[in-house]
Amino acid sequence: MPVAAIEEAAERLAGLEGSALRVRPRQCLNLRHLRAGCSACAEACPTKAIRWSPRLRVEPFDCAQCGACATACPAGALEVRDSVWCRRLAQISRAVAGTGRVLFACPLHLRRDRSLRRRTDVVEVPCVGAIQPWEIVAAVAFGAASVLLLEARCSRCTYRVAHGRAVRTVEEAQSLLAAWGRREEVRLGSEPPASTEAGSAFRALAGLLPQKGRSADEELARRGLEPQEIGGDTTQPQDPGEGLERWIPSSHRKLLFFLHRLGEPAADRVAPNAPLAHVEVAPDCTGCGMCAYFCPTGALRKRETAGKTELAFRAQECTNCGFCTRICYQGAIRTTEARPGAVLSGEEQVLWSGRPSTPQERLARRLV
Ligand code: SF4
Ligand code: SF4
Repeated sequence: MPVAAIEEAAERLAGLEGSALRVRPRQCLNLRHLRAGCSACAEACPTKAIRWSPRLRVEPFDCAQCGACATACPAGALEVRDSVWCRRLAQISRAVAGTGRVLFACPLHLRRDRSLRRRTDVVEVPCVGAIQPWEIVAAVAFGAASVLLLEARCSRCTYRVAHGRAVRTVEEAQSLLAAWGRREEVRLGSEPPASTEAGSAFRALAGLLPQKGRSADEELARRGLEPQEIGGDTTQPQDPGEGLERWIPSSHRKLLFFLHRLGEPAADRVAPNAPLAHVEVAPDCTGCGMCAYFCPTGALRKRETAGKTELAFRAQECTNCGFCTRICYQGAIRTTEARPGAVLSGEEQVLWSGRPSTPQERLARRLV
C-alpha cells in the first residue's frame, strides 16, 4: 500500500475518535499489512459507521460511540477511553458489593423495564455488544456469583448487529473462567432474576431523586485499584525493536490484571476462542522475522544473539489476533491454545534460532 494511501486511511479511521473511543490508527492490522484481511470492527459496528468492503469508509456522524468495535478489535487500534471503562468498572464493583451479581443492561432494556434502573445489580452499557471479556472476568474476580447480559430486545433493536459480538464475548469469558477453574454463571439471558435487595420500595422512591454516592475513583480506591495499574491509557508504546510501532491493547492489560486476581489457573490450556494464544513455528520457518516485524503487540520479537537470529514469543502479550499466521509467506507459524501459566508468568520462549535462509537457498532445497 503506498504510504500516502496509508496516511489517508489512518486519518479516516481517526475520525471515529470521540467521547468514548480512542483511536490508534497505526495499530490497525489492515494498515500494517496488505494480507491482514481484518473486518472485526465493521462486523461489530451496529450503525455501520465503519466499513472495510470494498474499501475503508468511516462515517463519524453515524458513530454512536457505543464501543462495540473496541470490543472486537484485537490490536488496540480502537479502544474505550479510561473515563468510560473506569466508570463502568466502578458500577460493576458496586453491583457485586451490593448483591453478589451483575446484570448488564442497555438503555432500550432499561426504558422498557423501569424497575431495573432502581436495582444496584444493574450496570448500564450502551449495548451488550460493547461489554468486553475482561469486564466479566473483573466481576468474577470481585466475587460475583453470576453475570447476566440482558438481551431480550436485541432482535428488534437497531443495534442488533452487535448481538453476535455479545455472544462471542460470553463464550470467550466462559473459556477463560473455565481455565481458571471458576464455575460462576456467565450467560446471555432475557429475564432478569427477581431483585433480592432489601428496601426496594424505598429505593424505588429514592430512584426518582438525584443520587449522591461514591465517585468512580473513590469506588475503585475502596478496592485498592488504581486505573493506571489496571491497564489505563499509556503514552508509552512497546519498544519497537526492528518492527513497526506496537502497543499492548489496554483491554488486554486489564484482562491480564484481573486474571491474576483470579489466582492460580486450574487447567494447562485455555480454549482456542479465548483472547490469549500460544504460537508455534514449523521447521520450514526461514527466520525472515516478518511476523515479529508486524506483530501489533510485540509478543513476537526477532533479535540477533551470538551470531544467530532468534524468534522469541511472550504469551503474556499475545491477543490471539492471528495476524502472524495470515502474513507468513511460508505458512510456518500457527496459533494454538494458550498456556495460562506462561500467560501469567510473562516468560519468554525462543521459537526459532538459526541463520535465516535466502530465497536462493530455499529454491535450491526445493529443487534437489
Ligand atoms: S478490528 Fe481493529 S485491526 Fe481489525 S480492521 Fe478494525 S481497527 Fe483494524
Ligand atoms: S503473536 Fe501473532 S497472534 Fe499473537 S499478537 Fe502477535 S501477531 Fe497476533
